[in-house]
Amino acid sequence: MARKVVSEKIQANILCKCGRRCALCFGLNNDTKIKKGQIAHIDRDNTNSDEENLVYLCLDHHNLYDSKFKQTKNFITLEVKTYKKELENYIERQKNENIKYVDEDYNLFLVLKKYFIDSGILTKFKNFIFSTPYRLEEFEISEGLYGSDLINDYEDQYPEVNFKDSYLKEQFNIFKENYYYAESLLSYKYQNYNNDASHMVYNIHYTYEERLNHIEEFDNYRINILESFGKIMDYFNEF
Ligand SMILES: [Zn+2]
Repeated sequence: MARKVVSEKIQANILCKCGRRCALCFGLNNDTKIKKGQIAHIDRDNTNSDEENLVYLCLDHHNLYDSKFKQTKNFITLEVKTYKKELENYIERQKNENIKYVDEDYNLFLVLKKYFIDSGILTKFKNFIFSTPYRLEEFEISEGLYGSDLINDYEDQYPEVNFKDSYLKEQFNIFKENYYYAESLLSYKYQNYNNDASHMVYNIHYTYEERLNHIEEFDNYRINILESFGKIMDYFNEF
């Protein structure tokens, strides 16, 4: 009988469910890397193109499976079917995990965007000229507990606010640390000369050299703040 063409829909189903991982690599070696491969007929009958009879195999395993050599008898159909099913379950679990993480990370991103971008606070950081007076509340994010939680980790009392994704987590840690230092530097090097306790003026008693050091230190924090947040924004494609 002539070889029956596998419909595109069935091919797509097979490829999506295994994520282009080879069932034999997975079953035999616990190898979950994406492989170049082909769709093989489990019962070695080219005319039987039902989805249950098809499996994605890497090129090496496909050759081995279809070859007439004696060793291929080692792969019995039930074995391949079992690996195929286990691999599909594994891929399904991975997808669910990722979706959960992506949703949580995206929600945190929206919170950060609200506090740091929509509020205009990072623009103020970007344009800030050291030794000019400023209003304290322009650089404060501690509106309510959650706002200050974003920067300060109250380790014992509350769980740390952070991303699940390791790259985002790393960037956010850089952001938090530098934001914390930048904010501290401003409140420490500036003094309040106003009665309404809001207008901050750079302390005039610092020497010229000290002032240069303060500017340099602050600019380092500022660059790290803007770069790390830029990377988080890039990740979510909203820059
Ligand atoms: Zn393989």
